[in-house]
Amino acid sequence: MKFDHLLVRYGELTLKGSNRKKFVNALKDNVIRSLQSLEGTHVHGKRDRMYISLTEEADVQEVISRVTKIFGIKSVSPVHKTTQELEDIKNLCRELAQNFNSGDTFKIDVKRVDKSFPLDTYELQRELGGVILQATEDITVDVKQPDNNVRVEVRMDGVYIYTEVYEGAGGLPVGSGGKTLLMLSGGIDSPVAGMEIMKRGVRIEAIHFHSPPFTSEKAKEKVIELTRILSERVGPIKLHIVPFTELQKQINKVVHPRYTMTSTRRMMLRVADIVLERIGGHAIVNGENLGQVASQTLKSMYAINNVTSTPILRPLVSLDKEDIVKKAREIGTFDVSIEPYEDCCTIFTPKNPVTEPDFDKVVKYESVYNFDEMVQRAADNVETITINKDYKSEKDKDTDALIDELF
Ligand code: ATP
Ligand code: MG
Repeated sequence: MKFDHLLVRYGELTLKGSNRKKFVNALKDNVIRSLQSLEGTHVHGKRDRMYISLTEEADVQEVISRVTKIFGIKSVSPVHKTTQELEDIKNLCRELAQNFNSGDTFKIDVKRVDKSFPLDTYELQRELGGVILQATEDITVDVKQPDNNVRVEVRMDGVYIYTEVYEGAGGLPVGSGGKTLLMLSGGIDSPVAGMEIMKRGVRIEAIHFHSPPFTSEKAKEKVIELTRILSERVGPIKLHIVPFTELQKQINKVVHPRYTMTSTRRMMLRVADIVLERIGGHAIVNGENLGQVASQTLKSMYAINNVTSTPILRPLVSLDKEDIVKKAREIGTFDVSIEPYEDCCTIFTPKNPVTEPDFDKVVKYESVYNFDEMVQRAADNVETITINKDYKSEKDKDTDALIDELF
């Protein structure tokens, strides 16, 4: 018995009063995009819930698996729809009961949204319970912990019947809350930070600081792959790759070795700020976490943050590493993040960085050289790639072409 609809319940967005239309539209766009390559689906976004109609060709499990990853969705249920005719409802229940396992228990839960329906909730519950008991042999009722909870919703446009509820990703629909720039390093933390922010409805573009030849193409490929994984949930993401070698060398020339880390972060932020303005975003996101490493003490954050008044969002600031790793595994970035390619900071990390950098000192070191032009040049020379879930790097494309040629 094939399901004909997927019922999609909204998360928090039902609370958002006058913004609701904007939220529903953003969510609808995201759902349509995620189902684009699948056959047999059509999305109807309504004020209080969404229905995806499913034709015979639709792969219901695949639709469920994609839709439950979209932010803004509380839960989904594959449903059967029928008319308000009592006989039709009964027939559907009879058919449904054929899927119960031998010895199963069940319960009927009626929600009567259309108050003009002739039977009241209790009467309909009793009728349908009776039908199922008659149509089966060893099935009994259990209202407390049933194996099959048959939910029947009587609505104006028809009656929806379902037994299963799959949990969604929660949060708010991406695109409903503005744009940020995510500092994406290739480590474990920053992709998780990006996902946490997107969960709140905010769109991201990513920025990565690349220092060839000190960092390899592999490190860049890794960041591209992380961006690709993030894009699986939210659609295409722009990745801005900043040529950072010149700045990094200059920092190492003029800044005291114990302060190069602080200064590197400050320059990154200055470049990020320029790119942020260009893309029309309003905040920078990073994966910083209090107390993890030298650059992440409060005093260090203060010294680094001081180059900008742009809000910096640090969604992981208070989490334990264990929890961050757990989240990285859940979103599928962990295995890529632990690949051993150096990012620019690992290579230039001094042996003994200052953990409590003195703000005045870092300013004094940097004042020896006017970094403005170099910062601007780095921002002007970014390479921007738009990455979607099917993105292939040039290298992969070359390999594919070679394979095509050979076979
Ligand atoms: P991550 O696991 O995200 O690399 P981390 O714990 O290793 O974080 P750091 O290396 O100190 O911490 O970096 C702190 C934050 O600075 C990162 O989470 C990231 O947002 C940003 N960052 C560091 N290096 C880069 C880089 N090369 N390009 C872009 N952002 C970076
Ligand atoms: Mg790192």
